[in-house]
Amino acid sequence: MAKSAKKAPAKKSGKSVKRVYFFGNGKAEGGATMKDLLGGKGANLADMTVVPLPVPPGFTITTDTCGDYNDLGQKLPKGLMDEVKLNIAKTEKATGKKFGDSKNPLLLACRSGAKVSMPGMMDTVLNIGLNDTVVEGLAKLSGNERFAYDSYRRLINMFGDTVMGVDHEHFEHELSAVKKAKGVALDTELETADLKEVVERYKHVYKTHVGSPFPMDGLKQLEAAIEAVFKSWMGDRAIKYRELNEIRGLRGTAVNVQSMVFGNMGDDSATGVAFTRDPSTGENIFYGEFLVNAQGEDVVAGIRTPLECNSEMGKWSQKSWKELLAVKKTLEERYKDVQDFEFTIEKGKLYMLQTRNGKRTAAAAVKIAVDMVKEKLIDEKTAILRVDPASLDQLLHPTFNPKAKKDVIAKGLPASPGAAVGKIAFTAEDAEKRFAAGETNLILVRRETEPADIGGMHVAKGILTSTGGMTSHAAVVARGMGRPCVAGAGALQIDSKAKTMIVNGKTYGDGDVLSLDGSLGEVYDGAVETQKAELSGPFGILMKWADKYRTLKVRTNGDTPTDAKVARGFGAEGIGLCRTEHMFFDVQRIHHMREMILASTIEARKEALLKLLPYQREDFIGLFQEMKGLPVTIRLLDPPLHEFLPHNEKDQAELARSLGKSLEEVKNRVQQLHEANPMLGHRGDRLAVTYPEILEMQVRAIIEAACESKKAGVKVLPEIMIPLAGTKAELDYLKKYTVATANAVMKEKKVKVDYMYGTMIEVPRAAVTADELASTAEFFSFGTNDLTQMTFGYSRDDAGSFLPEYVKKEILPRDPFQSLDVDGVGKLMAMAVKLGRGVKKDLKCGICGEHGGDPASVEFCHNVGLNYVSCSPYRVPIARLAAAHAALKASGSKGYSTK
Ligand code: PEP
Ligand code: MG
Repeated sequence: MAKSAKKAPAKKSGKSVKRVYFFGNGKAEGGATMKDLLGGKGANLADMTVVPLPVPPGFTITTDTCGDYNDLGQKLPKGLMDEVKLNIAKTEKATGKKFGDSKNPLLLACRSGAKVSMPGMMDTVLNIGLNDTVVEGLAKLSGNERFAYDSYRRLINMFGDTVMGVDHEHFEHELSAVKKAKGVALDTELETADLKEVVERYKHVYKTHVGSPFPMDGLKQLEAAIEAVFKSWMGDRAIKYRELNEIRGLRGTAVNVQSMVFGNMGDDSATGVAFTRDPSTGENIFYGEFLVNAQGEDVVAGIRTPLECNSEMGKWSQKSWKELLAVKKTLEERYKDVQDFEFTIEKGKLYMLQTRNGKRTAAAAVKIAVDMVKEKLIDEKTAILRVDPASLDQLLHPTFNPKAKKDVIAKGLPASPGAAVGKIAFTAEDAEKRFAAGETNLILVRRETEPADIGGMHVAKGILTSTGGMTSHAAVVARGMGRPCVAGAGALQIDSKAKTMIVNGKTYGDGDVLSLDGSLGEVYDGAVETQKAELSGPFGILMKWADKYRTLKVRTNGDTPTDAKVARGFGAEGIGLCRTEHMFFDVQRIHHMREMILASTIEARKEALLKLLPYQREDFIGLFQEMKGLPVTIRLLDPPLHEFLPHNEKDQAELARSLGKSLEEVKNRVQQLHEANPMLGHRGDRLAVTYPEILEMQVRAIIEAACESKKAGVKVLPEIMIPLAGTKAELDYLKKYTVATANAVMKEKKVKVDYMYGTMIEVPRAAVTADELASTAEFFSFGTNDLTQMTFGYSRDDAGSFLPEYVKKEILPRDPFQSLDVDGVGKLMAMAVKLGRGVKKDLKCGICGEHGGDPASVEFCHNVGLNYVSCSPYRVPIARLAAAHAALKASGSKGYSTK
């Protein structure tokens, strides 16, 4: 887990700190392994220099220097500029040019480069060193006056804009005026005299807004540019980017100062960017674009439309095209991965300006990893580590076409991945009715969902709520069902009675169409085009390799045979959690459930339970059949009973009528079951302690189903699991009923089945006294949703109102309901495993909280010695890959990141 703690600043006293690293002409002081200190770009420039690839000489100022700069209240550390001057001298020697010399000028580029790439987030200044006399010299030397003045006006613009904060618009305004007077549309159509005028106008803009003339001293320009890069690290844009991408623990950006090469020296010059393979599909083709007679920022800024390298570069220059194809091969052989690189061709000579591991889609990541093994560039273990497990989400669900137009109307939590499009339904009942009438594309929109909404959630294509967090009811159920869900989209005002949803002043009704991206947590207006998941080919190969190296088993949380089937398809090795209460929400069953809850005598309660028994038995038979001998962990009833009762008067009256009771009686019971804090109230095994007959019915259903399945030739491995236990005495008490019921059923059926009796570890006391619990329990399953809730004392249903702030302010590294709090909850888990296994050496331990599908948590589970993780069906492949990562990392294979 990434720590938010920052590294100590570079030592400022005693031995002086080396802040600047030179590279050029085949030699470099830095290297590929120094990304922490030199940033990704600096480390790779040094490395490419020694390959050798044609890298313009220059030097890198360390990331620690940026940290010191900001620690010193935005002041350059003492001695830095002396070191910079020394390195300018080295660069002069390597290039044979001189900084500030009008006869043979060296010009410099100044670029940011953090350890983790942050594209477009920080500043760049090119052509540093130009002034009114050097520009003349450059014109003579290059024999291209137009080019010299074009470069000069770019410097004034870039320096004015990024270093001094003069709005780019002011420069643009002058450029447009000159173009208009000349009657041309493109910058390239301007002639030398025009560009000279642009330079004068830009200098005027600069002076007007800065208050002093544009600096003629190259060293001053460079110093200010270095400062600007350091400052941009703490700019709003960069801070936001780091926040969104969870980039933490870095002190600053490096600065790369490099001799300029020019893609704008004429029609034999060009600049471009390329990937060594297609980053969207993974196809092994050169994938790049270039612009003739242009500087780097023209390609990035999209001022002119670039040409495609594959089809156009050869026509422009066979020599350059062949060189680039050779570079593709060299880069991949060197870095064993797809590279994203920038190049410039100056008067026919190719230069490399940067290379880094290319960002890619999940589909491309999988294909590239598998292809590179076939090409013998990497081995299977490296291929596994190349694919970010969490990114598999993109492959398992339908997704939105990345090219489709999207109008984001609200953002919430990415509670359950996938893309969904449909018309709004404001109640579960309405969704079910409309579905029955043939309307199959529906989005259930609720303030929050409740257990009674399950039917509507089931028929909906997607679920959207305005409150609730990642472990809210909506999120948990949606993930289990594989329904895309965006939860806690606070900007939505939902009125289910009026059937309206208001957002940004626009009102949506139940005929309006929405699109949800449950992987991003985004809500779009209207229907966005989707595309299907692709699970065969390279994906299948990669998953086979993952299975070969992982030791942790992966089960699924599933309540229905359909869940079980989907999960088996994804490679689940059993059911780690069947939440039996989910089986009670069907219209028929909930009626009997309510009858049971409203029963005033134990006999009446038993009678109602008897009506539920066959339903449960059939469900369990279905699960056993799908799981074909794999373990099936069935948890006994967990939620507080009030969740099953209707809360509005109309439904209460209907219930009273159907049960032959008075409305008063129903209301009283609802009142009686009301709790101030239901999460800490009458739920979990406390229900079984007070109503053992509920446990008896459920155990009977499990064992009857097991006996029948066994008779039918299906191998069964039921594991009966007690929720929320905190003491050994509770487990002992409930075990008596469990064993007695199971024995009675086996006797009746004349079949013997093996089953296990175990407990969830969900309350801190259970973890702390796990040795005692293990003398009764035959297995442990960590319910980390509740364990997190109770360890932190954060209500899992209400944490949405403050947890995002905690994460934003780095008080917590991440939402502990999404990714396990290793230092707190994890410590309890480690303690419980150790204590438990101290009593029963081979005690089976698993996890069934939502964390079971989170890659960082899976890694922790591997390291703490769990036997399995269990997660929702669609996260099973993610957990399989994450388990392989964990095993490989623990055995010393190097982790990998494309960041
Ligand atoms: C848990 O608490 O982690 C768990 C799996 O149970 P539930 O989410 O149903 O409370
Ligand atoms: Mg729980």
